[in-house]
Amino acid sequence: MKHYEYFNTLLPQLIGEKEGAIAPQITPSAAFGYASAQEAEAIFAGEAAKPLYARMGNPTGAKLETVLAKMEGGFGAVATSSGMAAIAMVLTGLLESGDEVLCVGGFFGGTYALMNETMPRFGIEGIFCDVDDFETMERVLQRGVKMVLCESVGNPNLKLPDIRRIALLCDRYNALFVVDNTATPLIVQPLKMGADLVVYSTTKIICGHSAALGGAVVFRGLKAEGEKLLDPKFSALHPLLKKGKGALMAVLKKRVMRDFGMSANAFASFLTLLGLETLPLRTKRVNESVEKLVALLYDAGLEVRHPSLENHEHHLRYEALFPDGCGPVVTIECGTRERAFAFLNGSKLMIQTANIGDNRTLGLHMASTIYRDFDEEGKKRLGITPGLVRLSIGLESPVALAEDMLAAWKSALS
Ligand SMILES: *Cc1c(COP(=O)(O)O)cnc(C)c1O
Repeated sequence: MKHYEYFNTLLPQLIGEKEGAIAPQITPSAAFGYASAQEAEAIFAGEAAKPLYARMGNPTGAKLETVLAKMEGGFGAVATSSGMAAIAMVLTGLLESGDEVLCVGGFFGGTYALMNETMPRFGIEGIFCDVDDFETMERVLQRGVKMVLCESVGNPNLKLPDIRRIALLCDRYNALFVVDNTATPLIVQPLKMGADLVVYSTTKIICGHSAALGGAVVFRGLKAEGEKLLDPKFSALHPLLKKGKGALMAVLKKRVMRDFGMSANAFASFLTLLGLETLPLRTKRVNESVEKLVALLYDAGLEVRHPSLENHEHHLRYEALFPDGCGPVVTIECGTRERAFAFLNGSKLMIQTANIGDNRTLGLHMASTIYRDFDEEGKKRLGITPGLVRLSIGLESPVALAEDMLAAWKSALS
């Protein structure tokens, strides 16, 4: 597909160096010398684009930020120590105590706990609603909520949001729209669909190799006209908006990175850049494999859940809005916890781990691991049943994976 061909060219070209060592450079320094007192002053004033101190950014992380911003069609990006750090950065950078966040759809366990337990301790409340509950969305937006958060694909419930429609609603009510695009880099381009900020756990698909924990926030430039951040409800940010088009960089770095220090380290950024070079190739392969594998498992009678199947509630949206697939996650309803355990233990290919987007196929029982401490209401909201297994499909042959899973299923039934 032409989209992948574009990125197959762009990413390796951007990431490598053309002279000298052609691999991306790692600069593992915490501090950086300034040429003169004048230069120090200019760097601290943000007038000289040189490293200040690694908590505020490091050259290898800066390279990753440039590449991610180009990939998303954004103005800029901030690399963070993890995906959770990226989400925390957006919340703490743009909101104040007393604010609410409209959380749309299904959420990764960590994000759900952050919105449901941790942010409320600091006076920021999450309000949850289904991806298709536009009535609630509109009602909550009408009362002046500043931020809407959603995942491009619900993990693990695989609900698919209509990102353009939610973005239009956010624009109407001057709310910032933040999309966690961890499951669908390249497949979904949230900034181009009207989102204001994109967050990533780069640990997952962007790396692919599970060798580095990391995250990123990618953001748009400020608009010359009709900028929603100029709404009086964002008045706490207004002093920083004088920075012009790149003001969100100042907001995230000065209000968060400087004081919380969730900075990416150079080695993690280097490893992330290595993964990013092959992202389009891997994305195409994995999404084609997912469809093949899902069809094989479904035909064999497994209760497999995926939007590529006609029986999925968002099948039509999948066909219309996700022509390249919706990422590596597939779930299987095994009926009971015992059968789910037997299925996972019976597989020879799956690695049992709490990760997604690896080059190898992963599997995990949901209710006994990530969601073990969730109350019944939370589990119900997120679609976590006693027999639910989440898979993340890797680069292996989909036929070999189907054979392995069908053998595991057969042994689980006996
Ligand atoms: C893993 C994940 C995160 C958190 O990322 P970490 O890098 O593990 O902190 C956030 N959102 C989604 C959708 C994820 O899958």
